[in-house]
Amino acid sequence: MRDLIVLDTSAVMTCDPSLGEGRLGLIERGAVYVREGVVAWVGPERDLPQADGAVRLSAEGGLVTPGLVDAHAHPIFGGDRAAEFALRAEGKTYLDIARNGGGIMSTVRATRGAIDEDLVERTHERLSRALAQGTTTLEAKTGYALSVYGELRLLQLLAQVARATPLTIVPTLLGAHAVPAERNGDRALFVAECAGPMLEGARGLAHAVDVYCDEGAFTLEEARTILTAAKTSGFAVRAHAGQFRDLGAAGLVAELDGLSADHLEQVSDEQAHLMAQHGTVATLLPGACVQLRLTPPPVARLRDAGCMMALGTDMNPGSSMTESLPLQMWLAMTHLGMTVDEAWLGVTRHAARAAGRPEAGRIAPSAPADLVGWRTPDPAHVPYHYGENHVRGVIVAGTQVVSR
Ligand SMILES: [Zn+2]
Repeated sequence: MRDLIVLDTSAVMTCDPSLGEGRLGLIERGAVYVREGVVAWVGPERDLPQADGAVRLSAEGGLVTPGLVDAHAHPIFGGDRAAEFALRAEGKTYLDIARNGGGIMSTVRATRGAIDEDLVERTHERLSRALAQGTTTLEAKTGYALSVYGELRLLQLLAQVARATPLTIVPTLLGAHAVPAERNGDRALFVAECAGPMLEGARGLAHAVDVYCDEGAFTLEEARTILTAAKTSGFAVRAHAGQFRDLGAAGLVAELDGLSADHLEQVSDEQAHLMAQHGTVATLLPGACVQLRLTPPPVARLRDAGCMMALGTDMNPGSSMTESLPLQMWLAMTHLGMTVDEAWLGVTRHAARAAGRPEAGRIAPSAPADLVGWRTPDPAHVPYHYGENHVRGVIVAGTQVVSR
């Protein structure tokens, strides 16, 4: 691997306020020196250290940022749900559709029925599209098999995909995504499976454990049982919390010093403060929020409480079929009331923390050299000019993997 110097930038966004201007740590006409796959130096180009033999890569006057981090994604599934998308446009709600056998359960049927090769290939395609739009780290959940065997199979397939993509995948076990039909008569048995044998099998395959705690999904007590067992077994914990109703899951994750509570359309002041206190990130999913026409999460409340806010695509076939983080930034600013700085931190530093890879999401000495070069010189332009891919190039661990 050759050493690398990225220069001719409009600015380098370090996402570290100690290294540059403002919350985004911007260094005007900055440069980055990459050695052996990690950032060795970042600063103004005029101060660039001697670096004999390094390949010089021009950013052609564009902005350079950390590789984007998707803090919440469900990339491995069979089939699609375009038909439900059409039904919702005719006025059916997400919960109506789920009650009629659609929703998560239709994807569970398609995923259980898919052969390994198909699941791996489709997931790989989704990740390639994410990479082309600047994503270099992605939190990837299981959750469409809903059995001990099936969920562990999805974790193994995710590991297979991870070996074949330049993206860094942080795998999450989401066995408790829904109660499968064959366990409807005995929820307690399924919860015990999620809190027992599933965790045993997931050792070494999953970084975190997630629970969907909401109306129509798992109760707060069920979430507590699963997440407490997960924490005891050494997993990081997180939850889908307050998408439709606030059952208290965000506070539970905070009390367990979890990585992140996600969705949060409904979250109390008290829980927001608990999250801030415990460093649990508030991960917002604007695509799903807007598509399901939910009341936006209380960004001002989360901001005032001092919460770190991240963004995720929620990439999934039901409520957010997208790989694009820049699109989430646009929605976060236009529909959720986030600022430019918050949107960028939401897909870099804060997202890296939410995903459980805190060393990513910044350009700082000894951070992984995951970088994106943009065709635009200023941070606001990326979310402002939405629906267009502004990525010029992507570097992962010091190697250029996308050039457009
Ligand atoms: Zn989700």
